[in-house]
Amino acid sequence: MQNNKQRVVIAGGGTAGWMTAAALGKLMGKQLDVTLIESDEIGTVGVGEATIPTLHLYHRLLNINEADMMAATNATFKLGIMFENWRDVGKDYLHSFGFLGKDCWACGFQHFWLKGREMGLASDIGDYCAEHLAAREGRFAALAGQDQNHAYHFDASLYAKFLRGIAEMHGVKRIEGKIAEVQQHVFDQQHPQNGFIKALLLESGQLLEGDLFIDCTGFRGLLIEQTLMTGYDDWTHWLPCDSAVAVQTVSTGTPVPYTRSISHPAGWQWRIPLQSRVGNGLVYCSKYLSDMDAKTLLKANVQGEMLTEPRLIKFRTGTRRKHWNKNCIAIGLSSGFLEPLESTSIHLIQRSIIRLLQMMPAGAVVQADVDEYNLQTKIEMENIRDFIILHYKVTERDDSAFWRHCAAMEIPPSLAHRIEMFGEAGKVYKFAQELFGESSWIQVMLGQGLTPKQHHPIVDLMPQSELAQFLGNIKTNVARQVQAWPPHYDFVQHYCKSR
Ligand code: FAD
Repeated sequence: MQNNKQRVVIAGGGTAGWMTAAALGKLMGKQLDVTLIESDEIGTVGVGEATIPTLHLYHRLLNINEADMMAATNATFKLGIMFENWRDVGKDYLHSFGFLGKDCWACGFQHFWLKGREMGLASDIGDYCAEHLAAREGRFAALAGQDQNHAYHFDASLYAKFLRGIAEMHGVKRIEGKIAEVQQHVFDQQHPQNGFIKALLLESGQLLEGDLFIDCTGFRGLLIEQTLMTGYDDWTHWLPCDSAVAVQTVSTGTPVPYTRSISHPAGWQWRIPLQSRVGNGLVYCSKYLSDMDAKTLLKANVQGEMLTEPRLIKFRTGTRRKHWNKNCIAIGLSSGFLEPLESTSIHLIQRSIIRLLQMMPAGAVVQADVDEYNLQTKIEMENIRDFIILHYKVTERDDSAFWRHCAAMEIPPSLAHRIEMFGEAGKVYKFAQELFGESSWIQVMLGQGLTPKQHHPIVDLMPQSELAQFLGNIKTNVARQVQAWPPHYDFVQHYCKSR
């Protein structure tokens, strides 16, 4: 090993590559010799602009100042996602990052709300959650010490540039060039490095040897798949969208603090408002909509002048069979792709980085660590997969072949179980490490039109007057709190200037 430091080679400089480089450089730069290779000619996927609140953890680890990051990336705040026409045409709901009402020891808030609604005592479930109401009213305030309630919309290329600055400041070396060949150690079962990756040969002739290789080459999966042939579990039978067309437009109004997800007959459209422009895209299933028609549909449904030409992106939903194989760890799109409906990809990048830091080998790769890494990643991806499938499966839309297919499709037993538990008696649960909590599942299940047949019996112990007061107090407090928050965009401008 050179200078007794592990040599880590990161192939790819998109969001995944630079997030990994910044974290390894900042947190382990004294022990690791990190090099990143990226190709200007190939470029990046160029989308991925909506995040979820878990990004705070990554920023805290790297000591990133929120206002600095937001100013550098033209960011706005995000309090949730507005799902328009998903339950049915004309029916909208919001999935906010906040917590709903108050739980009791026996059951969640939804049971009180269900009984209250039955008795005419409760209004929209979002009235009992500050982030939900604030998103609808276009207000925002960063609450001191509470960073679970907001995320960001940002310019992905500026975010990568921002992180590149941090990475290089902590000693990460960047090489611009194209990887022409991936070289492996000898293939011999007895050899401890049987088939491990040895070096990357660039088109320039430069050879980059390493101990650990991080594949951040995007959908290509140059190391993990094209070289190591790790295999892919295809989830298109559950998540059939396989294409997207993306375009940037000028802003036509004040940015709202939520992503818009607008359902269409063969997919859905995103609108992500940044300070400087709007990111738009249409995710669709090519079996039901041609690429040409998708472009036309998107163009007809954007607001404001187009700043870029519509760009086509093809993908296959699913997951790599192993995310860590031999001495190669796939992070980002090379590791698999769940479609962008709940903005989970950057979250998964961050989880992979943290897990890698936790499992970082001191010398030779330890197979038990690799197995644990793969198991944890698999469970995490499957939980998120189920949550995303829910949006497609539970719908009243039957106005197109695509939506009829989704409503009728088989779903994983794990999701069928959750739908049955909620539909029958309003129960939800969260696994220890699961990303989406009870409030998320409740908002989406109710929003998509799944109404529980019963509430928890303990709620019936509460006299009607007490229930009315309980619900009324929460609603009043939420409204009072949100009224004190400034308009979202005023806050953003003030915040970015206050650095
Ligand atoms: P890329 O951006 O593709 O980067 C790959 C890198 O590898 C590039 O630098 C490229 O030059 C380099 N490379 C490849 N081959 C070679 C070679 N031979 N030699 C040298 N370099 C090479 N995620 C979210 O969290 N929120 C969202 O809202 C969201 N929206 C999305 C919408 C769509 C339609 C899609 C497809 C994805 C979306 N994602 C979203 C996912 C998000 O875009 C990615 O997770 C993120 O951009 C990371 O991509 P990446 O770095 O893995 O790959």
